[in-house]
Amino acid sequence: MAYTEFPTYRGRMEYVCLDCGARYPGDSLLYTCPQCGGVFLLENLDFSKLKERSGAQWREIFDARCATRATALRGIFRYYELLAPLMDEEDIVYLGEGLTPIVEAAPALRDSVGIPFAYKNDGQNPSASFKDRGMACAFSFLKWLCRRQQWDEVLTVCASTGDTSAAAALYAAYVGAPLKSVVLLPHGKVTPQQLSQPLGSGATVLELPGVFDDCMKVVELLAENYRVALLNSKNSWRILGQESFAYEIAQWYGWDISTLCIFVPIGNAGNVTAIMSGFLKLLDLGIITALPRMFGVQSEHADPVWRYYDAPKNARHWQPVTVAPSVAQAAMIGNPVSFPRVRTLAERFVEKGGERAFQVMRVTEQQIMDAMIMANRHGHIACTQGGECLAGLINAKLLGLVTADEHAVLDSTAHALKFAGFQEMYFNNTFPPEYNVTPDTKLANKPELLLPESARQGRDAATFTRMGAEAVVARLGLQKKG
Ligand SMILES: *Cc1c(COP(=O)(O)O)cnc(C)c1O
Ligand SMILES: [Zn+2]
Repeated sequence: MAYTEFPTYRGRMEYVCLDCGARYPGDSLLYTCPQCGGVFLLENLDFSKLKERSGAQWREIFDARCATRATALRGIFRYYELLAPLMDEEDIVYLGEGLTPIVEAAPALRDSVGIPFAYKNDGQNPSASFKDRGMACAFSFLKWLCRRQQWDEVLTVCASTGDTSAAAALYAAYVGAPLKSVVLLPHGKVTPQQLSQPLGSGATVLELPGVFDDCMKVVELLAENYRVALLNSKNSWRILGQESFAYEIAQWYGWDISTLCIFVPIGNAGNVTAIMSGFLKLLDLGIITALPRMFGVQSEHADPVWRYYDAPKNARHWQPVTVAPSVAQAAMIGNPVSFPRVRTLAERFVEKGGERAFQVMRVTEQQIMDAMIMANRHGHIACTQGGECLAGLINAKLLGLVTADEHAVLDSTAHALKFAGFQEMYFNNTFPPEYNVTPDTKLANKPELLLPESARQGRDAATFTRMGAEAVVARLGLQKKG
């Protein structure tokens, strides 16, 4: 069979509880362990069958699929066998997610940071954040499950810092019946752009006073007691979809990623988990021969994972924190639900990659904003979380944790446009004091009105055009052509 056709291999998926080890069949809707409340990872019991092919054969297959015309294989499911090899071709939802560009840093920016690096622009996904990777998988699974169980209506719910709801609402709107989308947002804590997304997709948008962590507790209660499909990252299918980020990096760099350092913001900690899980699967199958190094990044206003790993190994203890306002708003989470997953995956990562293979950096709000503004002034489209990653890289470089013979890949998890409000606060010096950000006034950029509104009055178009041109010439000091 041609490598570019939909695969016939199917795995056997099981939920595995990271707390008590209980296992449950994959053809059910489960988010937390019914026995102990622990979080799950999904495991393919037939993963070892994939070892019947060599690493080289898998590389050849994935490379061949770059040219596929099968819609179902054009996005994250290019790596079908590694993700959720359960669904049939008709179940796969494809909205153009995944395969986002990796853009090398502009030379001047690279030189000022002192280490080569690239941004992987996950803001170039359909709803403008990486959440689409997970949703494509979760919704494909839901379609498959609805078909199997003959369900005629399923309500999907999620709490969100903005991007989860945008993605969930988009995919639900596309799939249509039997799915219906409800999103729960912390009132006033998502950007206007992020709020417009689920509204535009026709989702039911509900708000509660408080922060993300408060909304999360409410949807968890709902998911435990009512028939709803939870789309937060407790949903393990989302984690599988997000593994595609790791596969794409490996493939882009020719499957040789031993000198790469991957920087990822940590909020609810689903993404960092997924990426580590993805790299470990590649290593297990011999598709890569060495792991890259992973750097999680947190703001000092929401840093529970950093605190945990900052303690000496024998003195680590998990403690959620109360968050303070953060420009990395999508990662402003004090009690990440995926922390047990991070601990599990980081342990495996360090076991295979050495002590330096996983670490967590902490950055200030000031550093995040300065880094985002600098990146974007060099032609990137980094969101605040992308700024957070660059700030993390700069700190790592200063601390000697990375060297110039390595190459960093920074996750810009959303599009800059979603966080335009923070750029505006930076340029206009209007940050509320609790953010602790003082803009560098040299970087401020503002529109300049060249002529007053009254300049239009009583003038014909040609005169106004001439006046406008003269104003531009005066402002820029333009010289006439020879
Ligand atoms: C969700 C999100 C994060 C945080 O990812 P987690 O998986 O929750 O750690 C970071 N950046 C953006 C833009 C997000 O939408
Ligand atoms: Zn359990």
